[in-house]
Amino acid sequence: MSNIILTGDRPTGKLHIGHYVGSLKRRVELQNTGDYDDIFIMIADAQALTDNADNPEKVRQNIVEVALDYLSCGLDPNVSTIFIQSMVPQLTELSFYYMNLVTVSRLQRNPTVKAEIQMRNFETSIPVGFFTYPISQAADITAFKATVVPVGEDQMPMIEQTKEIVHKFNYVYGETLVDPKIMLPDNKACLRLPGTDGSAKMSKSLGNCIYLSDSEEDVRKKIMSMFTDPTHLRVEDPGHVEGNPVFIYLDAFCRDEHFAEFWPEYQNLQEVKDHYTRGGLGDVKVKKFLNNVMQSELAPIRERRAQWEKDIPAVYEILKKGSERAESVAAQTLAEVREAMKINYFDDMALIKEQAERYK
Ligand code: ATP
Ligand code: MG
Repeated sequence: MSNIILTGDRPTGKLHIGHYVGSLKRRVELQNTGDYDDIFIMIADAQALTDNADNPEKVRQNIVEVALDYLSCGLDPNVSTIFIQSMVPQLTELSFYYMNLVTVSRLQRNPTVKAEIQMRNFETSIPVGFFTYPISQAADITAFKATVVPVGEDQMPMIEQTKEIVHKFNYVYGETLVDPKIMLPDNKACLRLPGTDGSAKMSKSLGNCIYLSDSEEDVRKKIMSMFTDPTHLRVEDPGHVEGNPVFIYLDAFCRDEHFAEFWPEYQNLQEVKDHYTRGGLGDVKVKKFLNNVMQSELAPIRERRAQWEKDIPAVYEILKKGSERAESVAAQTLAEVREAMKINYFDDMALIKEQAERYK
């Protein structure tokens, strides 16, 4: 069986370091292994419109931002197909058929959708499109026969939902769709990176992000004003590393070689954690180290972005080519789906003959 990846992001803002550790970095690594037959990276504009229907300009503007973030992180358009969701209309048609295989109560139980509805204060005025986006995600994944979906932890319920749809579809209409596997980050800190304000998730919608495209100075300012351990008031006080976003970012980003380069008093992160927990190590020192680590990770991304920014038409051309390719792959799957569902009337010579016989 082939190895196929599908994953993507909503163009609701520039990408941040949560996206990077949760999914983007992994995609680039997987791309570079050469182990995959096909890699599809989707800019989910149609999904972004489900909760931004009145703000199409925001979605439109952010498509190129997300594409620039992809290219600057090392996604290679010659290897990975980068495309725009709404440019592949087959995805909408698939979603419509899958809707018949899911109950309203099943959607209501989806914990991520529940949390997102609350976060957006939709209360009783939930757009139907938003409510059903897990179904459209199933269409995105299955249209490309994806076997692997590298995403952050918040996407777990979506992949479960997709698997259920695949099983139901194959049971009712015969073996057609491919069952995907979720691929979560190995590093626990990367499953759901918290915001700089200490809230549970760094999220474009919450304004607590360090963006991949932030300037060196912006990154420094954001790190130096990060939330830490509120009980660690004086340097000599014992501190807490659990749930402390500064240490969670270090868990996500720092490697032993960063100590030799930026903080030779320590050999590894555990020594810093032990000192902080004992007391006697101030937040400013830890934040300065984190800033050095982050800048060394982000500098090459920033440089590549600056290069791509000089040729925006080329970025759109990549998206156009990618969307054309994605459409041809999705069209093939849709043809198989239509055949399985017996709605391929004009391709089914046996059907036409059979009906003609009946009226002889
Ligand atoms: P929005 O608030 O518009 O939903 P978002 O910041 O949640 O935006 P998405 O486009 O929904 O971003 O998510 C894209 C991918 O990034 C998904 O795979 C998601 O799991 C992952 N991701 C998003 N935020 C984080 C985070 N803080 N930590 C780890 N992974 C994340
Ligand atoms: Mg999200």
